Amino acid sequence: MRLPRIIAATLFLASVTASFAQPQPAAQPALPSTNIKVTLLGTASGPPVRLNRYQMSTLVQAGGESLLFDCGRGATLRLAQAGIPLADVSKVFITHLHSDHIVDIPDLYLSGWTSRNQRNRPIEVWGPAGTRSMMDYLQKAYAFDIHIRRDVDEHFSAEGIEVISHDIQEGVVYDHNGVKVTAFLVDHGPVKPAFGYRVDYAGHSVAISGDTRPSDNLVRYSKGVDVLIHETLPANNFRSRQEELTPQQMEAIIAHHTTPEQAGEIFTRVKPKLAVYSHYPDSPDIIPATRKTYSGPLELGQDLMTIEIGNKIEVGHAGIQQQPAASSGLQARRPKRQKSLSELGNAGKSLPTASPRMQSYSMKSCSVRRWMWTQTRTPPIRSSLLFAILLRHACRPPARLCTCSRLNSAVI
Ligand SMILES: [Zn+2]
Ligand SMILES: [Zn+2]
Repeated sequence: MRLPRIIAATLFLASVTASFAQPQPAAQPALPSTNIKVTLLGTASGPPVRLNRYQMSTLVQAGGESLLFDCGRGATLRLAQAGIPLADVSKVFITHLHSDHIVDIPDLYLSGWTSRNQRNRPIEVWGPAGTRSMMDYLQKAYAFDIHIRRDVDEHFSAEGIEVISHDIQEGVVYDHNGVKVTAFLVDHGPVKPAFGYRVDYAGHSVAISGDTRPSDNLVRYSKGVDVLIHETLPANNFRSRQEELTPQQMEAIIAHHTTPEQAGEIFTRVKPKLAVYSHYPDSPDIIPATRKTYSGPLELGQDLMTIEIGNKIEVGHAGIQQQPAASSGLQARRPKRQKSLSELGNAGKSLPTASPRMQSYSMKSCSVRRWMWTQTRTPPIRSSLLFAILLRHACRPPARLCTCSRLNSAVI
């Protein structure tokens, strides 16, 4: 009976060690003072729930400013994965009021205020007509929680839960610390007004299309831009996959967006140093269709893709910091080397779609290490349950210890 106790004690100590070995968000490396860094937080299109890519949201960092463009589902989760405190993001620019571009604003608004690194300045939101009204109602919707946490219980910063909102017109809407944001009208069919944005800083620039069909105004405002991030909707692929929509609904949606062939024409006219797709459905048709009308550098955006714009343009990936193998039992893969613009060439090759967790880690074998890995990634109640299951395994012959499928399924 001593052996099972020794094993149990060892496993308990291992669980305690593992609990201190939680993967931490990667520290943000200092950005060179003249660079713009873009992080694609969410790149998926439309309202449906997807687990591989989240909804539209793009972070632009420059001159000490962190500016968020759209805030679709999963934006706060991706910010956490990128190692950016929610409280650091207090300036939000909305392209239009479709829900898949704004549905995570309440989480950013409330959780940025109540997180460990609490926001103690107002959140400020710019967007089309209707933005102020939406933000006013948002404060009313969460009035109870705001009152309790601000006035009764935690006494969080009163200033941190204030909202400053702007219904904008086309033109420069923000100019601070050398970072200039210009809003320009795009054409999203009946969704009027809808905006794209251009950010200029220290001679570098990025433009974000928002939702639009081909727009001459976008071409005009994007001229000379380093990076153009554009939406796309491959029409034939969309028609073949949308069984729940009527033909009329499908054609209406297609008419409000830009096909890859049309986006290629836009890229050819704008001639950015790098063209990037964000806000697109999963489809193998996008790159080949774009290549019919555009032959320049092109990236198919993925969640947490980073694009650093300086003297050269580098495409990388933000994610969870890797664990030292010795302390966590994890085998960390070598970090992906960033690609320079010259390497991007005309290949139109995209980064893998795997989640950061799967890109950063791989397991050596089915063993206690897998259990420790599970422990670092499950809530306490599930951890206790798993500990009990493993303890039961530990009291049986050793061959049973390696039946990990049940444990593995618990974290998928
Ligand atoms: Zn839209
Ligand atoms: Zn959209």
